[in-house]
Amino acid sequence: MELSDLQHEKDVSIDEQVNTDRLHQLFRQSVSAVIGSYLAALMLCGLCWDRFEQTTVFWWLALLTGSTMLRISMFVAWFRCDESERTPRRWERKYWTTLVLSAGIWGAGALLIMPANDLLAQALVMLFTVGMSVSAVSCYSAYRYMTMISMGLVLLPCTLWLLFQPSAMQAGMALVVLVFASFVVRATRKMSDALEAAFRLTREMERAHNISRLAAQTDELTGLRNRRAFFERAQQLYDECRKKQLSLCAVMLDMDHFKHINDTYGHQVGDRVLQQMGGIICTCFRNTDVHGRLGGEEFAILLPDTSIEVAVKLLENLLVAMPQAMTGPVHRITASLGVASMSGDDADLHSLMNNADKALYRAKALGRNQISVAEPAWPFSSEGNNTPAVTGR
Ligand code: GH3
Ligand code: MG
Ligand code: MG
Repeated sequence: MELSDLQHEKDVSIDEQVNTDRLHQLFRQSVSAVIGSYLAALMLCGLCWDRFEQTTVFWWLALLTGSTMLRISMFVAWFRCDESERTPRRWERKYWTTLVLSAGIWGAGALLIMPANDLLAQALVMLFTVGMSVSAVSCYSAYRYMTMISMGLVLLPCTLWLLFQPSAMQAGMALVVLVFASFVVRATRKMSDALEAAFRLTREMERAHNISRLAAQTDELTGLRNRRAFFERAQQLYDECRKKQLSLCAVMLDMDHFKHINDTYGHQVGDRVLQQMGGIICTCFRNTDVHGRLGGEEFAILLPDTSIEVAVKLLENLLVAMPQAMTGPVHRITASLGVASMSGDDADLHSLMNNADKALYRAKALGRNQISVAEPAWPFSSEGNNTPAVTGR
C-alpha cells in the first residue's frame, strides 16, 4: 500500500466502509430470495388452484412476474457494474423500491386470493407468508429495517384480516403469527447489530494493520520509503525490468558537507533540509520510479525504462532544482550522485547498486556537486576517453 492509498482510505470513513460492506452482503445474500419468493407464489397457487379465484391469481402472478423481472434486472446491473460504483448512495434506494414493490404485491395479493370461508386454504396462505418472513431474516439481515418492512408487508395484510374474523380458530392463527413475528423482529435486531459490529471490527483492524505496515515502510523524516522498503520494491522492479528486458538505472545520492550544515545551523535545520530533499525527490521523478532514504543524508533512486543519457539529464535537473526549492537559512545545497545502468554483467540488484555507489564515491573524490556515471555504462562518456562520464555543476 502506498501513501496515496492510505490518504484515500483516510478520506473514506469507517462508517462509509461499513455501509458499503452491508450493501455487498445484502446483494450477495438476497439474490436467491428474488427467485424464491416468485417460486413460493407459484407453489401456493399450484397447491390451491381450485380453491382460489383464478382471475385474481392471474393478476397477482402477472404483477409478481413484473416485479421479479425488475429485481432480476437490478441484480444483473449490480453484478455487471464496476466495484467502485457499488455504493450505498447509488443502490440503496433502488433496492428499497424494488423490495417494497415486490413485498407489497406479495402481501396484498396473498390477502386478495385468500378465500373467505376456506380454513385450509387460509392456513396454507399463512404458512407461505410465514415462510417468506423467515427467509427475509436470512436474506436482509444486513439491513434490519428491510427485514422488518418486508415482513410487515407480506405478513400483516393476511394476519390482520384473520385477526378480525369471527371464528376463534382464525383469530388464534393470527395471534400465533403475531407472537412469532415479534420474536423474529427481536432476532433480526440482534443479528443485524452483530453483523454491523463484525464489519466495523474487520475494517478497523484492516485500517490499523495498513497504518502500521505503512509506518514500518516509511522514513518518518522525509516521507520516502525507508531502506528496507526501498530494497523490497527495488528488487521487484529489478526483476520486472530483467523479465521485460527494459533498461534500468540506479542512482545513489549523498548530500555534500552535510555535517557542516548541522554544525553551522543546528540539527533541526539539518532535519528540515532533509525533509525538503524528500519533497524535491518526489517531485523530480515519475510515479513509476522508486526512491527511498537509505540512511543519514543518502538517498537512492531507480529509474525503469530509462537510458543512462535520460537519467543524467534528470539528475542534472535535480541538482538545479535542489537549491531553488530550499526555504530557510540553507540555500547553498549540493549533492554528489552516482548513476549506473543495468547490464548483462550485473549479477543482481546489489551489484547494480554497488556500481552506482562506486560512481558516487568518484563524484565525491572529483570535487562533489556532480554526477558520475559508473564504468559499465562506458562508452557513454561525453569526454570520449577512458574515464567514466562526469557531469559537473
Ligand atoms: P560529504 O558527504 O560531502 O563527504 O560530507 P558529509 O558532511 O555529508 O559527510 P557524511 O556523509 O560522512 O556525514 C553525514 C552527516 O549527516 C553526519 C550526520 O551528522 C548527518 N546526519 C545523518 N542523519 C541525519 C539526520 O537525520 N538529521 C540531521 N540533521 N543530520 C543527519
Ligand atoms: Mg553520507
Ligand atoms: Mg554527505
